[in-house]
Amino acid sequence: MATSKGVAVRIANLNDRAVLVRESGFVDLAAASDGRFGPDPRSVLASLPALRAWLADASPADTESISPDDLARSGRLGPVVTDPSQVFAVGLNYRTHAAEMGLTPPSQPMIFTKFPSSLTGPASDFRVPSETTDWEAELVVVLGARARHLSVDAALDAVAGLCVGQDLSDRGLQMAGSPAQFSLGKSHEGFAPIGPWVTTLDDAGDPQDLRIECRLNGVVRQDSSTSDMVFTVAEIVAYLSRVVELRPGDLIFTGSPPGVGQGQRPPVFLAPGDVLETTISGLGRLRNVATP
Ligand code: ZN
Repeated sequence: MATSKGVAVRIANLNDRAVLVRESGFVDLAAASDGRFGPDPRSVLASLPALRAWLADASPADTESISPDDLARSGRLGPVVTDPSQVFAVGLNYRTHAAEMGLTPPSQPMIFTKFPSSLTGPASDFRVPSETTDWEAELVVVLGARARHLSVDAALDAVAGLCVGQDLSDRGLQMAGSPAQFSLGKSHEGFAPIGPWVTTLDDAGDPQDLRIECRLNGVVRQDSSTSDMVFTVAEIVAYLSRVVELRPGDLIFTGSPPGVGQGQRPPVFLAPGDVLETTISGLGRLRNVATP
């Protein structure tokens, strides 16, 4: 699907300013719209219908000519949202991942948080804090509206778009106690790369039919489809909204497919120098390098 001009709407964060990513380059939205949109990326995500209407008439010139791939790899992009009010994550949300962990898929969404200070950009390095640091490629949902008590049928109306994410995990810290402590174990510095941009839901295609892949040093470790999710994006959004108020810019990490390090026999964990590439069809690629 595409806009009336046949161009997907993709929003990225460049130096805390919302930019529209096009094939030919990016547009600084606040400058191009005389302040009507942005510069705060979160405010743009909350006004996508108005942005689409404006884009149908306006013909803003590129602020800078650069290909999307070069921009994603440049290290200049930050996390699309830097200070969300809430970051949710869902555990064991792919049937085949639950199986590799030796666990039964949960009967209701298993929710934890990644604290917002762990967010980082699509080409940022991340520190390896322990010898049990693991990867999890994930589809990330970006909210675009305030909402409570959504039905499953109406849930996607509150979603601005989708991006790629990594739910990096310190398994030692996560599993240190009983019961397990997910949230801290997944919130070290740099443990939540997202991006490279938000692709609006209208342009991203069916969120339950996206190919999701993770490569470690060029070797494919995860290669799956979001069709394997236990709870769909709409079901997760509706479930959360029955308890909390969802707000523009909130993020939901929707769980990881099989092939995480902990699931290998024997387990494989990340070490300094490792290169992690996370890709979702149509949404782009993250490239993050582990450092000491
Ligand atoms: Zn996860």
